[in-house]
Amino acid sequence: MVTRRHFAAGAVSAISMAYAVAPALSSDQQGAAPSKGAFPVQKSDQEWKSILTKEQYYVLRQHGTERAFTSPLDKIYAPGEYRCAGCDTLLFTSDTKFDSRTGWPSFFKPVENAVGTTTDRSFFMVRTEVHCATCGGHLGHVFPDGPKPTGQRYCMNGVAMKFVPKTDAPASPENKS
Ligand SMILES: [Zn+2]
Repeated sequence: MVTRRHFAAGAVSAISMAYAVAPALSSDQQGAAPSKGAFPVQKSDQEWKSILTKEQYYVLRQHGTERAFTSPLDKIYAPGEYRCAGCDTLLFTSDTKFDSRTGWPSFFKPVENAVGTTTDRSFFMVRTEVHCATCGGHLGHVFPDGPKPTGQRYCMNGVAMKFVPKTDAPASPENKS
């Protein structure tokens, strides 16, 4: 337990550091909020705790990871939008979602400027961490083994997002000339 607690504390400080050095590491992320202080939506820890569920807080604010195959969003492929559970920003759309068989909702492309990235060196790995560019909430990681056209796999925590089904689908598309 002691080891795990230390691990968690280390991970948290690693994240703070990652945010602090982000400008040097993510110059290709246009519009992405580079540092913790620069996110448009900012709340105190207490405020986040009051508006998020325990699981959402754990992932978004504490860099946690939900257990694989536990998110209902993993199995959803209906047309719609995936919004940040913390600040409601549109992050992904259903037309970029694919089945990665990892147990986490996966996308090959985020909405433009919706997310930012940092280098994550926790757990003895170097990974690219993905967060909401609006509130800084941790969403997941991106890996370079995704499908075409981007080759990217945005491996997201379903609990960090809300799925909003598309409701204005055309009633009878075949009648369109
Ligand atoms: Zn957000």
